[in-house]
Amino acid sequence: MATVKLVNVNKVYDGGVHAVHDFNIDIADREFIVFVGPSGCGKSTTLRMIAGLEEISYGELLIDGELKNNAAPKDRDIAMVFQSYALYPQMTVYNNMAYALKLRKVPKDEIDKRVREAAKILKLTPYLDRKPRALSGGQRQRVALGRSIVRRPKVFLMDEPLSNLDAKLRVAMRSEIVRIHEEVGATTIYVTHDQIEAMTMASRIVVMKDGFIQQIGEPNEVYRNPANIFVAGFIGTPAMNFLHGVVEKGYFIIDGTGEKIKLSKEQTALLKNYEGKRLVYGIRPENLVYQDDEKFASFSDCAFAIKVSMVELLGDIVNVHGYTGKTEIIVKTGNKYQIKDKQDVKVAIDYNFARFFNETTTKAITPEYCEYEEIEVTQSLDEDNVVIIEQKKGVFARTVGAIKDKIAASKKKKGQGNEQTESDVAEKTNDGKKS
Ligand code: ADP
Repeated sequence: MATVKLVNVNKVYDGGVHAVHDFNIDIADREFIVFVGPSGCGKSTTLRMIAGLEEISYGELLIDGELKNNAAPKDRDIAMVFQSYALYPQMTVYNNMAYALKLRKVPKDEIDKRVREAAKILKLTPYLDRKPRALSGGQRQRVALGRSIVRRPKVFLMDEPLSNLDAKLRVAMRSEIVRIHEEVGATTIYVTHDQIEAMTMASRIVVMKDGFIQQIGEPNEVYRNPANIFVAGFIGTPAMNFLHGVVEKGYFIIDGTGEKIKLSKEQTALLKNYEGKRLVYGIRPENLVYQDDEKFASFSDCAFAIKVSMVELLGDIVNVHGYTGKTEIIVKTGNKYQIKDKQDVKVAIDYNFARFFNETTTKAITPEYCEYEEIEVTQSLDEDNVVIIEQKKGVFARTVGAIKDKIAASKKKKGQGNEQTESDVAEKTNDGKKS
């Protein structure tokens, strides 16, 4: 059983590809961590650095608190399962699983016990005497898993181990692996590009893009509170809908159509610094309420029209694809309405599940952290005692605490008879006047 800690781990390949940037994570004993992200985002590289198959360019890897950067793979007490399983073709399933234990001189009885236990978990008991060529792809992959399980390593590393299996077997193996993890209890790091695998298997997910961690969190936390537009779009199928527009007097005005979505009191407070500014309104397909749904009336202040382009039947639910202006919208609803292509329908946003993003930085706007564009104004005196006002436009990030401090400071200033606040100055300089 083991903890795994990565501190500012980076990988720069020969030739200069910076594949992993400042990877930081503290993995607790028995956790099931999933690295997820599109192809090429650095998942395998990170895993291979933990395994010792790839050198860490800089940063630290600690297993059970011990620095392991330079330890040989065999001295890390790690087992790795790959997508491409290299089984010994001349050996039976039993011997393939037993081989590593024989090399370690584990007593025969113990080997037999562990192999049969693993075979039972993996449903391989009937095949123990077969050679790999007489197995299906799925069965071979399970033998590869079995070889790791029998070793009882401190840490399991799995690199897309299910991607060669057919869809049905993948689903079955997902829950098998979770169950095996619960039984075996070893810390597991699992790499996949499949966000459903990540959601269903992980105790915590690490979402990666272009070598950078985007978010680390429990599956539901990442789903409900994605840290940025990338995570919001990557986790969840169909992906979250993104409406671009402007905040104006308690409403969000959708680009192109000009339709108005009412903001709740809390949302208006959250978006206080965005008045008149652009942002991205995110809403998941299942949180859009179809016009004939009984819940629609409760959210009619947040309704907008879409032109239906396609209705995707999935059984008890349907995904209604449509457009508001040029923006594609997907609504997930029950299969109980008559919805036709090219029909104009209304959908309402269940605003309890809305998520807002800064359009420039793409980061989520939350009560804890808010990022907005403003004019920063500085005043100074030149040598002739003339006031110089400089303005700089940019994206400034402040914690809510810092914003509150700023407001308190400005109120105090006002109380002292100085009527000119920072925003007054900003307005004047916006007009291009010098005071
Ligand atoms: P993932 O597992 O997320 O698909 P990888 O970790 O395999 O991504 O790759 C991350 C980046 O590093 C990619 O841009 C890839 O092309 C690059 N890369 C991987 N292996 C090497 C290598 N041996 N030499 C140079 N670049 C590499």
